[in-house]
Amino acid sequence: METVKKQIILVVDDSLLICKQIRTALKEEPVFVCEAHTGEEAIEAVSQYQPDMILLDVVLPDIEGYELFGKLKEQDKNNASIIFLTSKDKDEDVVRGFSMGACDYIKKPFVQGEFRSRVNIHLLLKKQKDELARQNKELRTNMEKLNFMAFRDGLTGLYNRRYVVGDLVEEIRVNNEEKKNVLIMADIDDFKKINDTYGHDAGDMALVCLANILEGLCREHKVVRWGGEEFLIVLFDVTESEAWELSESIRKEVESFPIFHGEKEFSMTITLGLHIYEEDEGIEESIQYADKALYKGKRSGKNCSVWYDKIN
Ligand code: GH3
Ligand code: MG
Ligand code: MG
Repeated sequence: METVKKQIILVVDDSLLICKQIRTALKEEPVFVCEAHTGEEAIEAVSQYQPDMILLDVVLPDIEGYELFGKLKEQDKNNASIIFLTSKDKDEDVVRGFSMGACDYIKKPFVQGEFRSRVNIHLLLKKQKDELARQNKELRTNMEKLNFMAFRDGLTGLYNRRYVVGDLVEEIRVNNEEKKNVLIMADIDDFKKINDTYGHDAGDMALVCLANILEGLCREHKVVRWGGEEFLIVLFDVTESEAWELSESIRKEVESFPIFHGEKEFSMTITLGLHIYEEDEGIEESIQYADKALYKGKRSGKNCSVWYDKIN
């Protein structure tokens, strides 16, 4: 059987008789009633119980209910519905109560049936509000997940191509004389042969290993799975020689990295094409130049790093 979670009502009233009347009026309802008889007790009870509803008397021994209202709001993390319940029945009192953000104003003495109906309708509204807030939170979390997934590659967890057309351009900082942004296009050599020899799963394993190596060596930079077995590495704020050294250390690390798949052990090599990003070229054109350098490397025997050279 499904158990209904009881909503919590905090009654703030110095009159024990009123507290008793409220308990009697609500005795058939699925609610938990707690009491506070002074402002101080009320503040403590709100942080202790986090009630769904507060029935608030205006005339209390230590503080005026209107002033207490603000203090309770500060303690309240559950967005409780606050209803003034008071013998102050002048129009301006009612208006003051509502203008502070109370959701209802019930005058004492109250008629049990009307009191119960008002309390129940506000409890229902509170429940609906909570459910909406829950759904909203769930939606936001799902959207964040979707957003994350839209820019990530499913196999390696690296950024995918969409990230480059989206956020990357904003991250590229302006070059100065010394420090540049360098694009490296890296591609596994004879990857088809790896798939054919060891199987597609082994190929996937090789891609994950390569992604890990790249991420490990390029922590301050960005690594993107450009597609298939091609990876784009964006180096920020590097000198030409730093870029070259990093490219070569990646190449050597990959070459010497053993990949285990089942009983088999194998290794791979990669070729890398480098190009200094120029703002006036635009990101897509720059990537094409890194790609051209990569294919020059492939033509000249693979397993090497090559700078783009306009002449070739
Ligand atoms: P080259 O040295 O010239 O780069 O030759 P290559 O064999 O690496 O390149 P080619 O473009 O001929 O073949 C790439 C292969 O990569 C073909 C494709 O089936 C495989 N491939 C692409 N994406 C994946 C993937 O996600 N997993 C696996 N296992 N293979 C993939
Ligand atoms: Mg390849
Ligand atoms: Mg390829």
